Amino acid sequence: MGFLIAIDGPAGSGKSTVAKAVASRLGFGYLDTGAMYRAVAWAGLSQGLARTDADGVLALTESIALELSADPNDPWVRWDGRDVTEPIRRPEVSAWVSTVATNPGCRSELVDRQRAIVAGRDFVLEGRDTTTVVAPQAQVRVLLVADPEVRLRRRGAELGPAVDRSGLVDQVLRRDREDSALVEFERPASGVTVIDSTELTVAQVVDRIVGLADQAGLGRLTGSDPLV
Ligand code: C5P
Repeated sequence: MGFLIAIDGPAGSGKSTVAKAVASRLGFGYLDTGAMYRAVAWAGLSQGLARTDADGVLALTESIALELSADPNDPWVRWDGRDVTEPIRRPEVSAWVSTVATNPGCRSELVDRQRAIVAGRDFVLEGRDTTTVVAPQAQVRVLLVADPEVRLRRRGAELGPAVDRSGLVDQVLRRDREDSALVEFERPASGVTVIDSTELTVAQVVDRIVGLADQAGLGRLTGSDPLV
């Protein structure tokens, strides 16, 4: 049986950075579920699909050839064999992605694929419904939160000076609002540990999560010494 660590949280909470660091430290695979929604959105955009064409978006999701690297130190994404790691982060994709995320058939298809990827393996998976829908059975489930101002600042540092404050508000707070209508990621489900990263460093958050994994029996499973 695999050991799963699922991390949810709003935009800018640090979940990608933390999830990659935890996977790297433990030697686990890494799955960015959001990258799958983004890759479908990028494919839809590239093919000139209309956002209102729900059946077309579903057909695309069900047929799309996606490959994701499980390496937290090199997490590439390929669509039809082409590397799309960079374009899926573009602002126009962030705007399109809700078309995929609000389509229940698309969610169901992507959730099935995500479950198949992590089945029986040691994985850290991150994304808004991972603790509740994709892997509610995960041994460690974390909701990572942070104050909105800190989240805006972090996303601003990531995107650079080309994105002004209104662009940031759009990419962080508007997307949270849209996403919270879909999946409950702002309040923890039962059994989910909330970590507020507002005043913590990445290393401190990683230590906390590795500590939770140890409490959940990771050390016993691997026969190693306690990790923290
Ligand atoms: O995590 P990231 O911000 O890259 O995700 C992009 C979008 O994909 C989110 O805004 C959300 O609409 C959707 N998503 C989702 N469920 C997930 C991961 C992402 O609906 N598990």
